[in-house]
Amino acid sequence: MKIYNTLSKQKEEFIPLIPGKVSMYVCGPTVYNYIHIGNARPMIVFDTVRRYMEYTGLDVNFVSNFTDVDDKIIKKAIEEQVDATVISERFIEECKKDMKSLNVREATYHPKATEEICGMIEMIEELIQKGHAYRAEDGTVYFRTRSFKEYGKLSHKNLDDLQGGNRSLLVSGENQKEDPLDFVLWKPKKDNEPYWEAPWCNGRPGWHIECSVMSKKYLGEEIDIHAGGEDLVFPHHENEIAQSETANGKPFAKYWMHNAFLNIENKKMSKSSGNFFTVREIAEKYNLQVLRFFMLSAHYRSQLNFSEELMAAAKNGLDRILNCVESLKFQIKHTDNLAVLEQEASLNEELKGFEAKFCAAMDDDFNTADAISVIFELVKFANTTLNGSVSNLFLQNILETIVKLSDVCGLIVNRTEEILDEEIESLIAERQAARKEKNFKRSDEIRDLLLEKGIVLEDTREGVKWKRA
Ligand code: AMP
Ligand code: ZN
Repeated sequence: MKIYNTLSKQKEEFIPLIPGKVSMYVCGPTVYNYIHIGNARPMIVFDTVRRYMEYTGLDVNFVSNFTDVDDKIIKKAIEEQVDATVISERFIEECKKDMKSLNVREATYHPKATEEICGMIEMIEELIQKGHAYRAEDGTVYFRTRSFKEYGKLSHKNLDDLQGGNRSLLVSGENQKEDPLDFVLWKPKKDNEPYWEAPWCNGRPGWHIECSVMSKKYLGEEIDIHAGGEDLVFPHHENEIAQSETANGKPFAKYWMHNAFLNIENKKMSKSSGNFFTVREIAEKYNLQVLRFFMLSAHYRSQLNFSEELMAAAKNGLDRILNCVESLKFQIKHTDNLAVLEQEASLNEELKGFEAKFCAAMDDDFNTADAISVIFELVKFANTTLNGSVSNLFLQNILETIVKLSDVCGLIVNRTEEILDEEIESLIAERQAARKEKNFKRSDEIRDLLLEKGIVLEDTREGVKWKRA
């Protein structure tokens, strides 16, 4: 498996620090509004990376934070005259709902910045003691950027170029910096703002320190993968590296992965520019599986332009897979071709070939565009096979392969219709009546029907019990 590492600007063979295990941290959203579909891109992309790694047998510890202390959250809280936590908690819940509808799995841990302030104070203290940070007169704590010799190694920037470019940073309130390149670790409280007690002044953390601290707490000092959108390379990730590597005296993350932007009319989709669609808005028009398909139809490091035409094409593509799955299911149900035919050995080999080709695409820095093309080839193969005579077993093998590979992409193509409790109870009552009349054929039919929908029946002395498998 090869991963493009922003640090080396090269595709590198992925070798986890601990064989068989992966520690992965993805910078999560700032929660002051509904997420837009640009924010959904890293969620979908890195969820797919996680799914593929798990498919290959790796055990992934996946951490993604919620930034729940920030100027924008505080501004909104003041506008609504509520506590900042009311805003952040509301949008964390809304974000989790959007993730669920995008079929993005919950992280192993979803830490919140406000619950990790103690750890941040400890790390800042350590940085001060080691000479990498200092307290300015007003209580602000800055990181001494030039004290980390490798600063700039991720964004491939040179400190002296930055020095020139950053002069404008010497704005009011920042004039206590030793050097314009220094960045904030802790800042003093302002009126009406949430604050925490700290040795330097009552206040709140700067943005970058939270990820260094949460990554260390939940994954350890050295991790395999740190990821996020490409706008985070500088300064966020560069600053995280400086903080973590000077505090821990170790390399921070081995592989740095960044997704390219989702654009609208060739401009980055962002809340501040006002050119965005929320995931909710898209959900009113499309099934969100279509959005997921659309995102994965491009390589994650390529910019992607959002348009109605591309969404329509994504819908068509997804429908092709769904239709094929339905046809396969229909054929499996309605034919009793149990005898395995001789030519199926070679067809099975062909089927395995598709899976190998899918893996080759994913092993090449998660080329989901090529991987989806392989699913299409497989759909074509399935449609041709459906016209010939093959055994039910073989049709089931094709179905399983399509469902499995789509699932690696987080695409749900095998829908089992939801069954409500009342429907279950009524079918059980019908089955009991059939049994009383010694109509065992119907009774068995009902049992099988329920089993197909994941409902397991248990005949006990007290009567029939059921559970969802
Ligand atoms: P934010 O809430 O702005 O911190 O963003 C959360 C995540 O979404 C970060 O990884 C950003 O890099 C990413 N992101 C924001 N806008 C876009 C976009 N238009 N395209 C792709 N990723 C984005
Ligand atoms: Zn971060």
